[in-house]
Amino acid sequence: MANDAAPNAPVKTHTVVIVGGGAAGISVAASLHKRDHTLDIAIVEPATKHHYQPGWTMVGGGVFRPEVTSKPMAEVMPRFVTWYQQPAASVDQDQNRVVLADGKALEYDALVLAPGLELNWGGVEGLEQALGQNGVTSNYREGMASYTWEMVKKLKQGRALFSQPPMPIKCAGAPQKAMYLSADYWLKHEVLKDVDVQFHNAGAVLFGVPDYVPALQSYIDRYGIDVKFQSNLVAVNGAAQKATFRVTDADGRTEDRETGFDMLHAVPPQRAPALIRESTLANEGGWLNLEDDTLRHKNYANIFGLGDASGTGNAKTAAAVRKQAPVVAENLLSTLRNEPLKAAYLGYGSCPLTVENGRIVLAEFGYGGVLQPSFPQWLNDGTQATRAAWWLKAKQLPTLYWHGMLKGHEWLAKPAQR
Ligand code: FAD
Repeated sequence: MANDAAPNAPVKTHTVVIVGGGAAGISVAASLHKRDHTLDIAIVEPATKHHYQPGWTMVGGGVFRPEVTSKPMAEVMPRFVTWYQQPAASVDQDQNRVVLADGKALEYDALVLAPGLELNWGGVEGLEQALGQNGVTSNYREGMASYTWEMVKKLKQGRALFSQPPMPIKCAGAPQKAMYLSADYWLKHEVLKDVDVQFHNAGAVLFGVPDYVPALQSYIDRYGIDVKFQSNLVAVNGAAQKATFRVTDADGRTEDRETGFDMLHAVPPQRAPALIRESTLANEGGWLNLEDDTLRHKNYANIFGLGDASGTGNAKTAAAVRKQAPVVAENLLSTLRNEPLKAAYLGYGSCPLTVENGRIVLAEFGYGGVLQPSFPQWLNDGTQATRAAWWLKAKQLPTLYWHGMLKGHEWLAKPAQR
């Protein structure tokens, strides 16, 4: 058989090949297997560790121990899949092949693309070199949330900067979550009055869905946070403890402003991985070009996608993946059987905003910012900070992730029908 990937590269065939073994890749494998135990599934995933990234905010706030947010990939990888422990280098969608980094090719009947997104640390000059010292930290960096917590405890006075890059990013609320938990700690330890907390947001609003803004604004007021909109972090000088923000005024003029800091929680700009971004599988923004409801590729009937790499207009969260995985599983199996696609994803995503230690504003919404609360209002009002939502995030969600979602137990995730 001819192989364009590399001379003499052997080709292995699987019914389903999944690229990425993160939240999305493992969940969709489990949902497929649950529906058809005989399915031959392969996962392409280079990493040795699997991370529960939603827990990193809690590590940065001193609530979770870092160990509870990671497991060896081998422990999480389902026994029923063939695991190729290397990156996928490219997709040849016309020949139904995924080319691996070592030049070998995998042939598929159906492909699921779930490689997550790329944190573009190089998009902020000096940031990557500055991380982990001089008070420069990021909960987005594997292993660094403990340094955030260390810095929070250490700071007694001075200036603390929190940055949020242009959208889209994964868990759009996470830059703020780090800030609220830090400010809450400083308030409770009576040092907040001596800390100048600034939120530099590249965007123009506190949160993209207006229903949640009043509750968040009340915490901004409580902590006395100085919010700077359209202020985008562009450079960091760690040794000098200086950050440069590109500020855009109402007329669209930009100016670079340098600010000194004692602590900087930085969030890098984010983009689709090169595998997608530099391929014809991408939309104009570089993200995976999927149908919003079926999660099937707009141009390739046997390719599906989910998770952070997707170009669908939902919030990029593990909570979105929870609802997407069953939709992809059902529609992919319909495709293999030449049946019409019936399952629909309505854009659900969720962002538990940790506004203080003990209370969360549980933002849950779908396409177009339509609220999609999981619980009746008497149990949890998502537009308010509640203890119930904190209990859910702190006590229930990690277990639901490791033992529910990754194992194909589809809690509150029944697909809508088209
Ligand atoms: P990931 O889980 O990142 O997995 C992608 C996988 O693809 C990785 O294992 C990677 O190694 C692999 N991969 C990459 N490139 C290739 C390649 N070329 N070939 C093969 N494999 C590849 N979500 C929530 O729901 N609630 C929250 O409170 C929340 N808080 C967050 C806080 C922080 C600080 C962060 C960083 C994230 C948070 N999220 C939250 C977001 C959530 O973690 C992601 O949306 C989710 O992990 C997306 O799953 P994914 O599988 O698409 O990507």
